[in-house]
Amino acid sequence: MRGWIRSENYLRCDLVNGVVERIMLADRLQKAWEDLQRKGLVRTSRIIERVKGPSVWVEGRELLLFASNDYLGLGQHPKVLEASRSTDQFGWAPASSRLLSGTTRLHISLEERLAEFLGTESALFFPSGYMANLGLLSSIGGAGVTLFSDAENHASLIDACRLSRGRVEVLPHADIEAVRNAVQIPGEKILLTDSVFSMSGKVAPLRDLSTIAKETSTDLIVDEAHGFGIFGEGRGVVAEAGVEVPLRTVTLSKAAGSIGGAVAGKKTLVDYLRTKARTFMFTTSPPPSVCAAALESLSLLEEGSRRERLWENIRYFSPRATSPIIPFVLGENRRAVEASEILWERGFWVPAIRPPAVPEGGAQLRISLSALHTKEHLDRLREALDKI
Ligand code: PMP
Repeated sequence: MRGWIRSENYLRCDLVNGVVERIMLADRLQKAWEDLQRKGLVRTSRIIERVKGPSVWVEGRELLLFASNDYLGLGQHPKVLEASRSTDQFGWAPASSRLLSGTTRLHISLEERLAEFLGTESALFFPSGYMANLGLLSSIGGAGVTLFSDAENHASLIDACRLSRGRVEVLPHADIEAVRNAVQIPGEKILLTDSVFSMSGKVAPLRDLSTIAKETSTDLIVDEAHGFGIFGEGRGVVAEAGVEVPLRTVTLSKAAGSIGGAVAGKKTLVDYLRTKARTFMFTTSPPPSVCAAALESLSLLEEGSRRERLWENIRYFSPRATSPIIPFVLGENRRAVEASEILWERGFWVPAIRPPAVPEGGAQLRISLSALHTKEHLDRLREALDKI
């Protein structure tokens, strides 16, 4: 009976016996929902009424925000805001996909500027980093390809692997020996890793991975979502480590304080994606104002003062931290949620992260630092954490 949920049958059942079918779906989801409640996995959004610097206002209360990926505060930079308001000649929305009438001069400028900034031959802009990863792997995978994916890779890479139609092997997290053993097989191989892992904040051992990739004719592809803007003078961990990759993804939604993702790399590969990537072709082009804002962010990334301030904050808050993402692992879901709630009551927004974003039993507080935080903000958070 469950097979009926398949869309073509569902419509038919809906006409013949729609009520029964709907009750089935509702029953199943009601049980699943109760299960989520029991496991402490229900999620809701807090509604922000105002943002100023590192503070946000929710239900009339001011909170210090430690939950944002806008690590440099560029999303509030006056030049970025001004750029985002400077695109009236294009209208607000292109209302067409990139390959129809959705490509403006600003989309092309952004792609050229991204490639120049990253030192790659070419770049292709997608509406989000998630879509960049899906578009990339669904285009370059195939039955003869084996994809090796780090166990802590982001959900978008996990989903992208599923769409790749390749053979997928998940490898233990950052385990160089496991990688070395796994990639010894013949055939076409792709090694996939985040450059900075989004929940632990750890940096991938890119030099070692690159050496193994070269020795075994494997292509190393890196998701630079949390490395871009922060490492390698803004160019990411790939640039900092000095490794060569055929393709990498970046997102503009974190340190660049904007929105959208990109795949950057060799021109022929990027050209191929422009024609094949379904998340590029079959979705509406992002607004030109987003491109204008991102272009301004790239200019600001070139100039390093905010980055220096962020790294000072990281070192000050946690000398052992390797990135602005600082986890505080508490284990049980409820413990993490309770700790987050206590901090909330004291005026700090530090999110609790639960499975599936982290492994079962690995619920954590995820502290994101920003260049906008002052030392006093960090002292206050540390004091509050000590009390927990
Ligand atoms: N990759 C990683 C490692 C991420 O952390 C994220 C966002 N959380 C993404 C990709 C997706 O980027 P975006 O938010 O731009 O879709």
